[in-house]
Amino acid sequence: KEGRGESSAWCFYDEGMTASARERIALEAKLRLAMGLGQMQLYYQPQVDIASGRIVGAEALLRWNDPQEGFISPARFIPVAESSGLIGPLGEWVIHEACRQAQAWRMQGLPEVSVAVNVSPHQFLLTDVAGCTARALQSSGYSAQALELEITESALAERPDEALAVLRKLRELGVRLAIDDFGTGYSSLAHLKRFPIDVLKIDQGFIRDIPHNGDDMAISRAIIAMGRSLDLQVLAEGVETVQQLDFLRSNGCDAFQGYLCSKPLPAAEFAALLAGSGGTARMVGHAVQPVA
Ligand code: C2E
Ligand code: MG
Ligand code: MG
Ligand code: MG
Repeated sequence: KEGRGESSAWCFYDEGMTASARERIALEAKLRLAMGLGQMQLYYQPQVDIASGRIVGAEALLRWNDPQEGFISPARFIPVAESSGLIGPLGEWVIHEACRQAQAWRMQGLPEVSVAVNVSPHQFLLTDVAGCTARALQSSGYSAQALELEITESALAERPDEALAVLRKLRELGVRLAIDDFGTGYSSLAHLKRFPIDVLKIDQGFIRDIPHNGDDMAISRAIIAMGRSLDLQVLAEGVETVQQLDFLRSNGCDAFQGYLCSKPLPAAEFAALLAGSGGTARMVGHAVQPVA
């Protein structure tokens, strides 16, 4: 029983523990409870095609609104879920919920968008993510071609042979595969060639200081050029300014996500944005200009 596992954790709670270890155990117990109470939510951030200005996708992002603490960042609770094994059931819920929601939007007749779901390194290497994905597609009726799974570079780089086997299973289902936070890990370019990948997501760390940082601009240009020549789609994360978008457009980047278009939104607000715009993204003050 979930509740018993939680109370037994307190047996290890003693004064010899560091504050951070205690915090971790407390957070794990709280997360387990929140999952059981159905307090986890998915928000959706638009992904915009740069050439057409259309919203073509949504990235599903976990939100945990704790009654006492308020929103707890995934940067804090995903590592706890990873180390405690809770990532198994949590990750499974995320894939099922994203497919269910995306299929519901489709049934409502909203403009067609793909849905991207984050898969953490442990979830990717230690749980049956392909089986879970197959079940989610089956029970929701959503189409595999419209589902994208985001895997970080580090998960692929650590154990490339095992990673390749998992990627192949996912590819057989027909889902699209993206490398998240690209440029921050140590995946070799040889792996990139070998892996059945569709999308590179340029990490927001390289976008943040454009157009003021020449090195970041050079790196972003190189990733876009490499993606194009390998026939991969390239999406830039964390785009906040028109200057950044102009830079990406003039260098041939395919798509972007970022506050310039929208923050991640609750499902109903994302649907309203999609319905109201007819699928065409509006920036703060202006529409994304299609390339002439
Ligand atoms: P990520 O997958 O790289 O997600 C992008 C993060 O950047 C999100 O943070 C998003 O809210 C934020 N972001 C988007 N646009 C902008 C922008 O213009 N400016 C800035 N400063 N930030 C922007 P979030 O939602 O806090 O998620 C953080 C990380 O937590 C994600 O990074 C992902 O690695 C992980 N995560 C979130 N949801 C899930 C999930 O369902 N499963 C797993 N395994 N990991 C998740
Ligand atoms: Mg992501
Ligand atoms: Mg990312
Ligand atoms: Mg990131």
